[in-house]
Amino acid sequence: MLLRHTPKEITERSALTINPAKTCQPIGAMYAALGIHGCLPHSHGSQGCCAYHRSALTRHYKEPVSAATSSFTEGSSVFGGQANLMQAFSNIFTVYNPEIIAVHTTCLSETIGDDLPQIRKKAIAEGKIPEGKYVISASTPSYAGSHVTGFSNMVKAMTELAEPTGKKNGKVNLIPGWVEPCDMEELKRLSKLMGVGTIMFPDTSGVLNTPLTGEYKMFPDGGVTIAELKSTADSIGTIALGEWCSGDAARELDSKHKVPCKVLDMPFGLKATDRFVDALHKMAGVNVPEEIMVERGQLVDLISDMHQYFYHKKVALAGDPDQLIAMTEFLVSIDMCPVHIVTGTPGKKFEKRIKELTAGMPYQVNVRAKGDFFLLHQWMKNEPVDLLISNTYGKYIARDEDVPFLRWGFPILDRQGHQYFPTVGYKGGLRLLEKILTLLLDRKDRDDTEMKFELVL
Ligand code: SF4
Repeated sequence: MLLRHTPKEITERSALTINPAKTCQPIGAMYAALGIHGCLPHSHGSQGCCAYHRSALTRHYKEPVSAATSSFTEGSSVFGGQANLMQAFSNIFTVYNPEIIAVHTTCLSETIGDDLPQIRKKAIAEGKIPEGKYVISASTPSYAGSHVTGFSNMVKAMTELAEPTGKKNGKVNLIPGWVEPCDMEELKRLSKLMGVGTIMFPDTSGVLNTPLTGEYKMFPDGGVTIAELKSTADSIGTIALGEWCSGDAARELDSKHKVPCKVLDMPFGLKATDRFVDALHKMAGVNVPEEIMVERGQLVDLISDMHQYFYHKKVALAGDPDQLIAMTEFLVSIDMCPVHIVTGTPGKKFEKRIKELTAGMPYQVNVRAKGDFFLLHQWMKNEPVDLLISNTYGKYIARDEDVPFLRWGFPILDRQGHQYFPTVGYKGGLRLLEKILTLLLDRKDRDDTEMKFELVL
């Protein structure tokens, strides 16, 4: 087996990561930037970084991802990349004509110390940014944080475009966090059902889940528009989903433009979706329609019908903090037991929150921020589980330990469906449970003796 040499005995490591449970900051910044209509993400660094970031996103979303690069050479690596970026602004606006360029740094340009806000000022002063076009920037050094940090930094950068007019627009800003394009669609569907007008940013629906029409569009139809981003300063409030992905941007709008914000968990599972719907209901002063209550009731029905198969099943989880917090709460609420939980993203708050959510479970819980898949595997060797939930990289562990495996999170490189079938909201909860249940029951069918092999479950 591929990971047969992973030792069961755990030794403390302080300066070595093995099989990381995260990827680099610019990937998150690039994904967020693609959620602005007419945006060309720009990677301020070497071509190799940009190629990696683009391919990481393409492999997950199965869509072409366009991005530009400052193409650092030896000279720019030593003296800084200002000249390259200034030239890039001219070339990009002339050749590709985007509405906006979203620049993020890389390890290299951060180490040199390139100051993106200063370079942008110089570009504006020298007329390199045409009238009516925009440039935003985020600092995304990969030796700090993770792809989640990069995503958050770019979403916060989007709030620079907010421009209050003094007149409220009656809408709610909805910051969805790093979820799939279909999840963003689902959140907008729920908001629409409640009669709440929203400005979602970023919004990759219609960008990274587009139909094949035979026509190539450099800038797909989806994405939040510049006009909408400007209008975020006039909204009645902001609902930010996920502290790690969306909290900073929401607080920025609050402190700069007095747009009150509520930072919630991502709406995966029953309770977190309840809180999301309740926040929309309170912020916009609308009622919850019957249609949403029916969807909720269906999820409750599935939970109660199949409870015996979920009961006290042990789960190992790896992924990003916002997703893991919501998933842990969901699993605990249906009496499953998440016993090993790892994220590669730093943050002691994560460990504290997971411990609170799992308090009272019948098993001891291992949780680690800034952890890796190697540690997760070791934990699983010491305390075996019934299910592993993680991105594609978990497949090696699942195979080695012969454990049912649910692919969920980023990246998923070897399966399809994540772009099209949401896992947020009540309907998303149904999909998650259906997938979990299928894995558990397939395993039961495989392992049951003939006496126990049932037709009806
Ligand atoms: S050098 Fe840094 S920014 Fe570039 S791919 Fe590697 S980790 Fe990412």
